[in-house]
Amino acid sequence: MADSKVESRNVATTPSAPRVLRVAVPTPLRRLFDYRPKGPPPSGGWQPGLRVKVPFGQRQLVGIVMACDDHSELPANQLKPIGSRLDDEPLPADWLWLCRFTARYYLHSLGDTLHHALPAPLRQGRPLEARTRERWRLATSLEQALAGLERAPRQRSLVELLAQHSHGLVTSAITVQGFTRAQLQGLLGKGLIACQQEPLTAGDNWRGPLLAEPALPLNREQAAALAAIHESLDRYHPCLLHGVTGSGKTEVYLQLIEGVLAQGRQALVLVPEIGLTPQTLARFRKRFRAPVVALHSGLTDLERLDAWEAARSGRAPIVIGTRSAIFTPLARPGVIIVDEEHDGSFKQQDGLRYHARDLAIARAHREAIPILLGSATPSLESLAQARSGRYRHLRLTQRASRHAPAKLELVDLRGRPRQGGLIAPVIDAIRQALKAEGQVLVFINRRGFAPSLACHQCGWIAECRHCDSRMTLHRQPPRLVCHHCEHQTPQPDACPACGSADLRPLGAGTERSEETLATLFPDTPVYRIDRDSTRRKEAFDQLLTEVRRGEPGLLVGTQMLAKGHHLPHVTLVVVVNADAGLYASDFRALEQSAQLLVQVAGRAGRAERSGRVLVQTLHPDDPNLRLLADSGYDALAYQLLEERRLAGLPPYRHLALARFEAVREADAQELSQAAGEALRQWLDKRQLAVHCLGPVPAPMERRQNRYHLQLMLSSDKRSALHETGAWLIGWLENSASRRVRWSLDIDPMTLS
Ligand code: ADP
Ligand code: ZN
Ligand code: ZN
Repeated sequence: MADSKVESRNVATTPSAPRVLRVAVPTPLRRLFDYRPKGPPPSGGWQPGLRVKVPFGQRQLVGIVMACDDHSELPANQLKPIGSRLDDEPLPADWLWLCRFTARYYLHSLGDTLHHALPAPLRQGRPLEARTRERWRLATSLEQALAGLERAPRQRSLVELLAQHSHGLVTSAITVQGFTRAQLQGLLGKGLIACQQEPLTAGDNWRGPLLAEPALPLNREQAAALAAIHESLDRYHPCLLHGVTGSGKTEVYLQLIEGVLAQGRQALVLVPEIGLTPQTLARFRKRFRAPVVALHSGLTDLERLDAWEAARSGRAPIVIGTRSAIFTPLARPGVIIVDEEHDGSFKQQDGLRYHARDLAIARAHREAIPILLGSATPSLESLAQARSGRYRHLRLTQRASRHAPAKLELVDLRGRPRQGGLIAPVIDAIRQALKAEGQVLVFINRRGFAPSLACHQCGWIAECRHCDSRMTLHRQPPRLVCHHCEHQTPQPDACPACGSADLRPLGAGTERSEETLATLFPDTPVYRIDRDSTRRKEAFDQLLTEVRRGEPGLLVGTQMLAKGHHLPHVTLVVVVNADAGLYASDFRALEQSAQLLVQVAGRAGRAERSGRVLVQTLHPDDPNLRLLADSGYDALAYQLLEERRLAGLPPYRHLALARFEAVREADAQELSQAAGEALRQWLDKRQLAVHCLGPVPAPMERRQNRYHLQLMLSSDKRSALHETGAWLIGWLENSASRRVRWSLDIDPMTLS
């Protein structure tokens, strides 16, 4: 990009002593700050990517030098010196580029973006080097060592212990046996043992064959897909691996990574939040002898730093992580893989609102490497790119196992009594499946007992005091909970409006289905899997281990269960209600609910037995649902694309959403209206082809006692949209009061 050229010129003309350092500082302000260098220059001279401590207001902050210059806008006497320099070696140039690109694309402060992209210890100023540990080994023969230790029994035992380990032992392995550091130091002082520092993370001494188990022979489609990517491993080459669930996409990833590793390069694999399971990791670790480094939310800050450092130094050949792993630097990038590329968790919904898949594309382009986006249900964005030929479209239409993915069978709910959300014919089908020794997955996208509680006398419905939403009834333990703000109240005994005791739960959630199924099938275990039943991570793993043993059983769960998990014994999938996305106001709702339905359906018939998928609906004649059931996801997706084109929606038009929220409705209204007016005037003058809609109330206007309004910008031209967004932000920075919180979301995933 243009900027990096400017920097390198600056570096060239001012090799070691620039007069001014332009520093990105972690503040929301969208600008750099000038400082004077102080102290000895780093060995490679001052250059972008060096971390410095700088005085900022009353505080000292860790910032990053972004450019070196000889001139500042500031008068010389106002130019403060930096506090100190933290690194001798700059952060990688590609990493800086990615952060700069992200900040510019999402119109976010660069200082904040860099801060977000760095592991916490580096943000806090910790030195940029791998943490090490000490490895101890015998420095002489055992006899020689023992000879001098007659009167030191503990040191003798320690020497004997070390003698059993020719590769030596790390400190923790020694102290855990009851030895002390003083004993180690004593032996070291006598020259009987030696101590060596080694990097803490895996990857340090991995050599030899790549694979721990042989790769599977690929079927024809898999082989063709792999060959297509292998053809161009040394250039930017975006591919969409579009393969039905169970078609062996993961096997293609594994063999692609094998090829990349064989060239001595690294692979970065991004997976959805829900997809980074012990199961996924185990699959990678089983295949490769090479270390697989995982970046997930369960790591401590130091572990995260170690993983980051292992990737940056090139010691980690394979890095797997969720959204934020896109900011992991690689010493020798070879490929980026985004699994389940359509998944919503790749988009960050607050603060820096980036989309990891989109950044992955930009990054692969910059680093000139192939990128593989995999999905059974590609996003309309990626599908449009594939159709236009900008991405290579690789298809896997066959399942690796014998069975084709099950078709969706629509079941008419209208006018039929339900038990725990299920109608009689569906309950019969469950009975059949259990009798045939199968497992049944009941998918219901609502946790709790019932989505609401109503009075049968007067029609009162329990609503949240803080939001425009209903309270969900929970039974374990009994209470009403708002799923939008977590506000809780005890379950009332009588109607607060009319005093009647006839309060009834409306609809069914996971707890209610679980209760009903346990009553209907008393001899079959029922496992409920949702956020409530699995607050502890071990609880979830335990449940899954239990389920995978394959005994007949009923699984009731939300999308936690529907995605990512391999459930080979499920032969029947029941979708309690498919209607949520059909008539929702959000333009992506239908795409997302079709993806979810297909993913859920994909759980059925994965192993030897073929499966069935029953989808309950109040709208069995809905044309979109019919198309999905009869012709599959692709047919629906292409039709939705056509509709998006006609309606002027993404991916054919680009959107940016400005959100405003305040405690007082009038404050949010006033600012959003003023912003809209100012923007329209500016657009008129600039003659930019950008459309501004609103302000309109957000779909849920009151949430957590705050009022939400939004302005939507849309344009055929990205550059025009960005220019407008940047102008709007400038206007808001100057005009907004503290009472109103605002943000601008580029490429919003939801309009809520
Ligand atoms: P996807 O990622 O597309 O859902 P997976 O990669 O998980 O599919 O593959 C589904 C199942 O098929 C796995 O059990 C996998 O081991 C198996 N499989 C994949 N490719 C092959 C192959 N070429 N030969 C035999 N089995 C395969
Ligand atoms: Zn009432
Ligand atoms: Zn609420």
